[in-house]
Amino acid sequence: MEVINAELRQWCHELPKVELHAHLNGSIRDSTLLELVKNHGDNGVLISKDVEQMILEKGTSLRKCFELFAVYHVLATDHETVKRITKEAVEDFAADNCIYLELRTTPKKNEAKGMTKRSYMDAVIDGLKEVNTVDVDLYGCELTNKKNGDRRRKKIFVRLLLSINRSEATSSAIGTVNLAMEMKDMGVVGIDLSGDPTVGQWDTILPALEHARKLGLPVTLHCGEVRNSKEIQAMLDFNPQRLGHVCLLAEEDWERLKSLMIPVEICLTSNIMTQTIPLIEYHHFADLYKSKHPLSLCTDDTGLFSTTLSNEYYKAAVSFGLGKEEMFKLAQEAVNFVFANEDVKKHLAQNYEEAKARIL
Ligand SMILES: [Zn+2]
Repeated sequence: MEVINAELRQWCHELPKVELHAHLNGSIRDSTLLELVKNHGDNGVLISKDVEQMILEKGTSLRKCFELFAVYHVLATDHETVKRITKEAVEDFAADNCIYLELRTTPKKNEAKGMTKRSYMDAVIDGLKEVNTVDVDLYGCELTNKKNGDRRRKKIFVRLLLSINRSEATSSAIGTVNLAMEMKDMGVVGIDLSGDPTVGQWDTILPALEHARKLGLPVTLHCGEVRNSKEIQAMLDFNPQRLGHVCLLAEEDWERLKSLMIPVEICLTSNIMTQTIPLIEYHHFADLYKSKHPLSLCTDDTGLFSTTLSNEYYKAAVSFGLGKEEMFKLAQEAVNFVFANEDVKKHLAQNYEEAKARIL
Protein backbone atom coordinates (compact mmCIF):
# COMPACT_ATOMS: atom_id res chain seq x y z
CA MET A 1 0.00 0.00 0.00
CA GLU A 2 1.20 3.48 -0.85
CA VAL A 3 2.46 5.47 2.11
CA ILE A 4 1.32 9.08 1.88
CA ASN A 5 4.05 11.64 2.50
CA ALA A 6 1.91 14.41 3.98
CA GLU A 7 4.74 16.93 4.16
CA LEU A 8 5.58 16.47 0.47
CA ARG A 9 1.90 16.66 -0.45
CA GLN A 10 1.61 19.97 1.36
CA TRP A 11 4.79 21.24 -0.32
CA CYS A 12 3.38 20.35 -3.77
CA HIS A 13 0.27 22.29 -2.81
CA GLU A 14 2.29 25.36 -1.86
CA LEU A 15 4.41 25.22 -5.01
CA PRO A 16 3.20 27.87 -7.49
CA LYS A 17 2.03 26.01 -10.58
CA VAL A 18 1.34 26.62 -14.25
CA GLU A 19 -1.48 24.62 -15.85
CA LEU A 20 -1.30 24.29 -19.63
CA HIS A 21 -3.68 21.42 -20.36
CA ALA A 22 -7.10 21.65 -18.70
CA HIS A 23 -10.47 21.17 -20.39
CA LEU A 24 -13.31 23.28 -19.03
CA ASN A 25 -15.95 20.53 -19.17
CA GLY A 26 -13.63 17.95 -17.61
CA SER A 27 -13.00 20.29 -14.67
CA ILE A 28 -16.60 20.25 -13.38
CA ARG A 29 -16.83 19.55 -9.63
CA ASP A 30 -18.68 16.35 -8.68
CA SER A 31 -20.98 18.34 -6.39
CA THR A 32 -21.89 20.71 -9.24
CA LEU A 33 -22.43 17.80 -11.57
CA LEU A 34 -24.96 16.23 -9.21
CA GLU A 35 -26.72 19.52 -8.71
CA LEU A 36 -26.93 20.12 -12.45
CA VAL A 37 -28.33 16.65 -13.00
CA LYS A 38 -31.05 17.32 -10.40
CA ASN A 39 -31.91 20.67 -12.01
CA HIS A 40 -31.89 19.09 -15.43
CA GLY A 41 -35.06 17.32 -14.35
CA ASP A 42 -36.52 14.00 -15.17
CA ASN A 43 -36.32 14.26 -18.94
CA GLY A 44 -35.30 10.66 -19.33
CA VAL A 45 -31.73 11.45 -20.39
CA LEU A 46 -30.05 11.70 -17.00
CA ILE A 47 -31.04 10.22 -13.68
CA SER A 48 -29.34 11.42 -10.49
CA LYS A 49 -28.82 7.93 -9.11
CA ASP A 50 -27.09 6.78 -12.28
CA VAL A 51 -24.77 9.78 -12.26
CA GLU A 52 -24.00 9.25 -8.56
CA GLN A 53 -23.01 5.70 -9.43
CA MET A 54 -20.87 6.96 -12.34
CA ILE A 55 -19.04 9.33 -9.99
CA LEU A 56 -18.39 6.48 -7.55
CA GLU A 57 -17.02 4.31 -10.33
CA LYS A 58 -14.88 7.04 -11.87
CA GLY A 59 -11.51 5.84 -12.99
CA THR A 60 -12.29 2.17 -12.80
CA SER A 61 -12.21 1.88 -16.58
CA LEU A 62 -11.83 3.86 -19.77
CA ARG A 63 -15.48 3.22 -20.62
CA LYS A 64 -16.63 4.70 -17.29
CA CYS A 65 -14.55 7.84 -17.95
CA PHE A 66 -16.14 8.39 -21.33
CA GLU A 67 -19.65 7.73 -19.96
CA LEU A 68 -19.15 10.53 -17.48
CA PHE A 69 -17.62 12.80 -20.11
CA ALA A 70 -20.81 12.34 -22.17
CA VAL A 71 -22.81 13.53 -19.12
CA TYR A 72 -20.69 16.70 -18.89
CA HIS A 73 -21.50 17.44 -22.50
CA VAL A 74 -25.25 16.97 -22.05
CA LEU A 75 -25.24 19.37 -19.09
CA ALA A 76 -22.92 22.18 -20.15
CA THR A 77 -25.11 23.46 -22.95
CA ASP A 78 -26.62 26.67 -21.65
CA HIS A 79 -25.03 30.03 -20.87
CA GLU A 80 -25.68 29.92 -17.10
CA THR A 81 -24.04 26.51 -16.70
CA VAL A 82 -21.03 27.49 -18.81
CA LYS A 83 -20.63 30.60 -16.69
CA ARG A 84 -20.87 28.67 -13.45
CA ILE A 85 -18.44 25.88 -14.35
CA THR A 86 -15.90 28.44 -15.61
CA LYS A 87 -16.06 30.40 -12.35
CA GLU A 88 -15.73 27.25 -10.26
CA ALA A 89 -12.88 25.80 -12.33
CA VAL A 90 -10.81 28.98 -11.97
CA GLU A 91 -11.51 29.19 -8.23
CA ASP A 92 -10.45 25.54 -7.82
CA PHE A 93 -7.20 26.02 -9.74
CA ALA A 94 -6.44 29.17 -7.75
CA ALA A 95 -7.12 27.35 -4.46
CA ASP A 96 -4.56 24.79 -5.62
CA ASN A 97 -1.96 27.59 -5.99
CA CYS A 98 -2.05 27.64 -9.72
CA ILE A 99 -0.74 31.05 -10.84
CA TYR A 100 -1.37 30.65 -14.57
CA LEU A 101 -4.16 28.65 -16.16
CA GLU A 102 -4.67 27.99 -19.85
CA LEU A 103 -8.23 26.73 -19.97
CA ARG A 104 -9.38 25.07 -23.18
CA THR A 105 -12.89 24.58 -24.39
CA THR A 106 -14.77 23.75 -27.58
CA PRO A 107 -17.14 26.65 -28.39
CA LYS A 108 -20.55 25.07 -28.82
CA LYS A 109 -23.59 25.96 -30.83
CA ASN A 110 -26.96 25.12 -29.26
CA GLU A 111 -29.80 26.60 -31.27
CA ALA A 112 -32.49 25.47 -28.80
CA LYS A 113 -30.85 27.62 -26.10
CA GLY A 114 -29.97 30.49 -28.46
CA MET A 115 -26.29 29.68 -28.11
CA THR A 116 -23.73 30.51 -30.78
CA LYS A 117 -20.01 29.76 -30.60
CA ARG A 118 -19.46 33.42 -29.77
CA SER A 119 -22.15 33.60 -27.07
CA TYR A 120 -20.73 30.39 -25.55
CA MET A 121 -17.34 32.12 -25.26
CA ASP A 122 -18.96 35.27 -23.87
CA ALA A 123 -20.48 33.06 -21.14
CA VAL A 124 -16.98 31.73 -20.36
CA ILE A 125 -15.72 35.30 -19.98
CA ASP A 126 -18.75 36.21 -17.84
CA GLY A 127 -17.81 33.26 -15.62
CA LEU A 128 -14.29 34.66 -15.25
CA LYS A 129 -15.74 38.00 -14.20
CA GLU A 130 -17.68 36.28 -11.43
CA VAL A 131 -14.66 34.67 -9.78
CA ASN A 132 -14.46 36.17 -6.33
CA THR A 133 -11.93 34.20 -4.32
CA VAL A 134 -8.95 35.48 -6.32
CA ASP A 135 -8.08 38.26 -8.77
CA VAL A 136 -8.23 37.13 -12.37
CA ASP A 137 -5.95 38.61 -15.01
CA LEU A 138 -7.35 38.13 -18.48
CA TYR A 139 -5.77 39.92 -21.49
CA GLY A 140 -3.62 41.98 -19.13
CA CYS A 141 -6.66 43.39 -17.35
CA GLU A 142 -7.80 42.52 -13.88
CA LEU A 143 -11.38 41.35 -14.16
CA THR A 144 -12.28 40.79 -10.60
CA ASN A 145 -13.71 43.52 -8.47
CA LYS A 146 -11.82 43.72 -5.20
CA LYS A 147 -14.85 43.55 -2.98
CA ASN A 148 -12.92 43.87 0.27
CA GLY A 149 -10.35 46.26 -1.11
CA ASP A 150 -7.74 43.65 -0.19
CA ARG A 151 -4.65 44.39 -2.26
CA ARG A 152 -2.79 41.33 -1.04
CA ARG A 153 -5.21 38.93 -2.62
CA LYS A 154 -3.87 36.10 -4.72
CA LYS A 155 -3.91 36.52 -8.47
CA ILE A 156 -4.29 34.01 -11.26
CA PHE A 157 -3.54 34.66 -14.92
CA VAL A 158 -6.16 32.96 -17.09
CA ARG A 159 -5.83 32.54 -20.83
CA LEU A 160 -8.15 30.62 -23.13
CA LEU A 161 -7.56 28.10 -25.89
CA LEU A 162 -10.34 27.33 -28.34
CA SER A 163 -10.57 23.62 -29.05
CA ILE A 164 -11.36 22.16 -32.42
CA ASN A 165 -13.11 18.83 -32.08
CA ARG A 166 -11.57 16.15 -34.28
CA SER A 167 -14.99 15.22 -35.64
CA GLU A 168 -15.72 18.76 -36.91
CA ALA A 169 -15.98 19.63 -40.60
CA THR A 170 -13.23 21.83 -42.08
CA SER A 171 -15.52 24.85 -42.32
CA SER A 172 -16.54 24.58 -38.66
CA ALA A 173 -12.90 24.21 -37.57
CA ILE A 174 -11.94 27.29 -39.60
CA GLY A 175 -14.86 29.10 -37.93
CA THR A 176 -13.34 28.29 -34.52
CA VAL A 177 -9.96 29.65 -35.61
CA ASN A 178 -11.61 32.86 -36.86
CA LEU A 179 -13.44 33.18 -33.55
CA ALA A 180 -10.13 32.79 -31.68
CA MET A 181 -8.68 35.58 -33.81
CA GLU A 182 -11.71 37.77 -33.15
CA MET A 183 -11.22 37.22 -29.40
CA LYS A 184 -7.45 37.63 -29.40
CA ASP A 185 -7.74 40.76 -27.28
CA MET A 186 -10.09 39.03 -24.87
CA GLY A 187 -7.74 36.43 -23.44
CA VAL A 188 -7.82 33.83 -26.23
CA VAL A 189 -4.22 32.84 -26.96
CA GLY A 190 -4.34 29.74 -29.12
CA ILE A 191 -5.94 26.67 -30.64
CA ASP A 192 -6.18 23.07 -29.42
CA LEU A 193 -7.14 19.94 -31.31
CA SER A 194 -8.96 17.39 -29.17
CA GLY A 195 -11.87 14.93 -29.05
CA ASP A 196 -12.27 11.20 -29.54
CA PRO A 197 -8.92 10.09 -31.03
CA THR A 198 -10.54 7.26 -32.96
CA VAL A 199 -12.65 9.58 -35.11
CA GLY A 200 -11.85 12.38 -37.56
CA GLN A 201 -9.24 12.74 -40.26
CA TRP A 202 -6.10 14.84 -40.02
CA ASP A 203 -6.59 16.13 -43.58
CA THR A 204 -10.00 17.55 -42.62
CA ILE A 205 -8.50 19.59 -39.78
CA LEU A 206 -5.14 20.59 -41.29
CA PRO A 207 -6.50 23.57 -43.32
CA ALA A 208 -7.85 25.10 -40.08
CA LEU A 209 -4.53 24.59 -38.29
CA GLU A 210 -2.63 26.12 -41.21
CA HIS A 211 -5.06 29.02 -41.09
CA ALA A 212 -4.28 29.46 -37.37
CA ARG A 213 -0.58 29.47 -38.13
CA LYS A 214 -1.02 32.12 -40.83
CA LEU A 215 -2.90 34.27 -38.32
CA GLY A 216 -0.11 33.85 -35.77
CA LEU A 217 -2.16 31.76 -33.31
CA PRO A 218 -0.13 29.12 -31.45
CA VAL A 219 -1.40 25.53 -31.69
CA THR A 220 -1.33 22.51 -29.38
CA LEU A 221 -2.47 19.06 -30.50
CA HIS A 222 -3.66 15.98 -28.60
CA CYS A 223 -1.22 13.46 -30.01
CA GLY A 224 -0.66 9.71 -29.69
CA GLU A 225 -3.66 8.81 -27.51
CA VAL A 226 -4.09 5.83 -29.83
CA ARG A 227 -1.57 4.14 -32.11
CA ASN A 228 -1.85 5.98 -35.40
CA SER A 229 1.61 6.41 -36.78
CA LYS A 230 0.51 8.14 -39.97
CA GLU A 231 -1.30 10.84 -38.03
CA ILE A 232 1.45 11.19 -35.43
CA GLN A 233 3.96 11.74 -38.26
CA ALA A 234 1.67 14.34 -39.83
CA MET A 235 1.42 16.11 -36.48
CA LEU A 236 5.19 16.14 -36.11
CA ASP A 237 5.47 17.47 -39.69
CA PHE A 238 3.13 20.29 -38.67
CA ASN A 239 5.51 21.04 -35.79
CA PRO A 240 3.04 22.77 -33.42
CA GLN A 241 4.03 24.95 -30.46
CA ARG A 242 3.08 22.16 -28.02
CA LEU A 243 1.79 18.58 -27.98
CA GLY A 244 -0.45 16.88 -25.40
CA HIS A 245 0.05 13.31 -24.10
CA VAL A 246 2.36 11.76 -26.81
CA CYS A 247 1.70 8.33 -25.30
CA LEU A 248 1.76 5.77 -28.08
CA LEU A 249 4.59 6.82 -30.39
CA ALA A 250 6.62 4.38 -32.47
CA GLU A 251 10.36 4.45 -31.83
CA GLU A 252 11.24 6.60 -34.85
CA ASP A 253 8.46 9.09 -34.09
CA TRP A 254 9.67 9.26 -30.50
CA GLU A 255 13.17 10.13 -31.63
CA ARG A 256 11.81 12.73 -34.01
CA LEU A 257 9.71 14.33 -31.26
CA LYS A 258 12.82 14.59 -29.13
CA SER A 259 14.92 16.10 -31.88
CA LEU A 260 12.19 18.66 -32.66
CA MET A 261 12.08 19.62 -28.95
CA ILE A 262 8.32 20.28 -29.09
CA PRO A 263 7.18 20.99 -25.50
CA VAL A 264 4.92 18.22 -24.14
CA GLU A 265 1.94 18.54 -21.81
CA ILE A 266 2.16 15.48 -19.54
CA CYS A 267 -1.03 14.21 -17.85
CA LEU A 268 0.01 11.31 -15.60
CA THR A 269 -3.28 10.48 -13.86
CA SER A 270 -5.26 10.83 -17.07
CA ASN A 271 -2.97 8.48 -18.99
CA ILE A 272 -3.14 5.84 -16.25
CA MET A 273 -6.90 6.12 -15.64
CA THR A 274 -7.74 5.88 -19.32
CA GLN A 275 -5.32 2.94 -19.48
CA THR A 276 -3.38 4.54 -22.32
CA ILE A 277 -0.30 3.73 -20.22
CA PRO A 278 -0.67 0.55 -18.11
CA LEU A 279 1.47 1.55 -15.10
CA ILE A 280 3.04 4.80 -14.00
CA GLU A 281 6.44 3.09 -13.87
CA TYR A 282 6.25 2.77 -17.67
CA HIS A 283 5.24 6.39 -18.26
CA HIS A 284 7.27 8.25 -20.88
CA PHE A 285 7.65 11.18 -18.47
CA ALA A 286 10.78 9.42 -17.15
CA ASP A 287 12.48 9.28 -20.55
CA LEU A 288 11.54 12.84 -21.53
CA TYR A 289 12.64 14.18 -18.16
CA LYS A 290 15.96 12.35 -18.32
CA SER A 291 16.54 13.69 -21.85
CA LYS A 292 15.84 17.25 -20.64
CA HIS A 293 12.97 17.48 -23.13
CA PRO A 294 10.74 20.54 -22.55
CA LEU A 295 7.66 19.39 -20.64
CA SER A 296 5.02 20.49 -18.20
CA LEU A 297 2.83 18.54 -15.78
CA CYS A 298 -0.91 19.06 -16.34
CA THR A 299 -4.23 17.66 -15.10
CA ASP A 300 -6.24 17.22 -18.34
CA ASP A 301 -9.55 16.92 -16.42
CA THR A 302 -9.57 17.55 -12.67
CA GLY A 303 -13.22 16.49 -12.36
CA LEU A 304 -13.16 13.46 -14.57
CA PHE A 305 -9.95 12.10 -13.07
CA SER A 306 -10.43 13.39 -9.50
CA THR A 307 -7.05 15.07 -9.47
CA THR A 308 -5.40 18.46 -8.90
CA LEU A 309 -2.22 19.92 -10.34
CA SER A 310 -0.60 19.57 -6.89
CA ASN A 311 -1.50 15.89 -6.98
CA GLU A 312 0.17 15.52 -10.40
CA TYR A 313 3.39 17.03 -8.99
CA TYR A 314 3.18 14.79 -5.94
CA LYS A 315 2.67 11.78 -8.19
CA ALA A 316 5.72 12.70 -10.29
CA ALA A 317 7.82 13.19 -7.15
CA VAL A 318 6.99 9.83 -5.59
CA SER A 319 6.89 7.84 -8.84
CA PHE A 320 10.11 9.13 -10.35
CA GLY A 321 12.06 10.10 -7.23
CA LEU A 322 12.24 13.83 -7.92
CA GLY A 323 13.47 16.11 -5.13
CA LYS A 324 12.02 19.49 -4.23
CA GLU A 325 14.56 21.47 -6.23
CA GLU A 326 13.85 19.38 -9.31
CA MET A 327 10.12 19.80 -8.79
CA PHE A 328 10.48 23.53 -8.38
CA LYS A 329 12.50 23.76 -11.59
CA LEU A 330 9.94 21.65 -13.43
CA ALA A 331 7.13 24.00 -12.39
CA GLN A 332 9.20 27.10 -13.13
CA GLU A 333 10.20 25.94 -16.61
CA ALA A 334 6.56 25.57 -17.66
CA VAL A 335 6.52 29.38 -17.84
CA ASN A 336 8.57 29.11 -21.04
CA PHE A 337 5.79 27.21 -22.78
CA VAL A 338 2.77 29.41 -22.00
CA PHE A 339 0.99 30.96 -25.00
CA ALA A 340 0.57 34.31 -23.23
CA ASN A 341 2.87 37.24 -24.02
CA GLU A 342 6.29 38.17 -22.63
CA ASP A 343 4.80 40.51 -20.01
CA VAL A 344 2.90 37.63 -18.45
CA LYS A 345 6.01 35.43 -18.58
CA LYS A 346 7.94 38.12 -16.73
CA HIS A 347 5.27 38.30 -14.03
CA LEU A 348 5.28 34.54 -13.62
CA ALA A 349 9.08 34.40 -13.49
CA GLN A 350 8.94 37.00 -10.74
CA ASN A 351 6.42 34.87 -8.83
CA TYR A 352 8.85 31.97 -8.93
CA GLU A 353 11.73 34.12 -7.72
CA GLU A 354 9.62 35.18 -4.73
CA ALA A 355 8.48 31.63 -4.03
CA LYS A 356 12.03 30.27 -4.11
CA ALA A 357 12.99 31.93 -0.85
CA ARG A 358 9.74 30.83 0.74
CA ILE A 359 9.55 27.15 -0.11
CA LEU A 360 13.01 25.95 -1.12
ZN1 LIG B 1 -6.87 16.65 -23.02
